[in-house]
Amino acid sequence: MSEGIEIQGIILSVMPVGEADRRVLLLTRELGKVSAFARGARRPTSPLCGVTRPFSFGAFTLHQGRSAYTLSKAGISEYFEDLAHDVEKSACAMAFCELTAYFTRENADETGTLALLYYALRALQSGKMKKRLVQAAFECRLLSENGLMPAFSHCARCKKTLESGVFSTALMQPLCTDCAPKNSLYPLQKSTVYTLEFIRTEEVNRLFSFDLSDQVLSELLAVSEILLKSAVDRELPARQMLSVLLSPAEPHQ
Ligand SMILES: [Zn+2]
Repeated sequence: MSEGIEIQGIILSVMPVGEADRRVLLLTRELGKVSAFARGARRPTSPLCGVTRPFSFGAFTLHQGRSAYTLSKAGISEYFEDLAHDVEKSACAMAFCELTAYFTRENADETGTLALLYYALRALQSGKMKKRLVQAAFECRLLSENGLMPAFSHCARCKKTLESGVFSTALMQPLCTDCAPKNSLYPLQKSTVYTLEFIRTEEVNRLFSFDLSDQVLSELLAVSEILLKSAVDRELPARQMLSVLLSPAEPHQ
């Protein structure tokens, strides 16, 4: 076996392979997104059994084979265990991991996205923030990390500082009330504009610490939905589950 590579990351998904193996998809600091085989990990006696679970964050030792990596060891520092015991939180976490897997690549610097996912899962686990709000903040920031979210500081047409306005689906940009066409479908209150700019620019570790009215939250989710629809070219089953499980703007739990 080759010399091990120590990496730090989070397990995005786990798939059974053959009779007793698992394939794990990891987002890592060192290798970007990478998949690895965990041989025998479905045997209850295997040391890899308990550590190859979705959302596990920690240090992993990989060995590079001819066509794939093999996982030999894991030291998990955060299991996010509470997520697995709550249907709605677990569905959110799966949707976040699904989107993360969609937007990340092998051998790319994904440290920003790794930190974003980590703090989003922490926010979900703590339960202090509405799940829909964690979702909106996570999705908008993920889009921003990938250069797919416009600035909300200025009107895209007249360049005036934006206070309230609308989101133009034709331009995929915000417009001020003076430049907005009549009967715009996606209004943006002043608080929504402020929040979108906050999500786009704030340090990731301070991103998940605010609350909003349901009206602002629904505007935020609408923007996130429009941007994601235009950026993603395939079905996202885990994310679609959220529209079944979570109300559009749930009351605070
Ligand atoms: Zn304008």
